[in-house]
Amino acid sequence: MADIWQAIRAITPGDEFRVCPACGYKLGFHTSLLRTEGGLLVILICPECGARFDTGWMVPDGRSA
Ligand SMILES: [Zn+2]
Repeated sequence: MADIWQAIRAITPGDEFRVCPACGYKLGFHTSLLRTEGGLLVILICPECGARFDTGWMVPDGRSA
């Protein structure tokens, strides 16, 4: 699990977060969800270079209560 977190960079999106800061890819991101104690954390993944970014966005896990 530790290796997964080390590969993710925390970012603070401005008005728009569309360009990958790692490689310059300009057409947006894929998304994945990473389980945390507080819910599911939205992770953005660059489709070009695979860099992963933590936006701080959390979504509830509707399947565990
Ligand atoms: Zn990239």
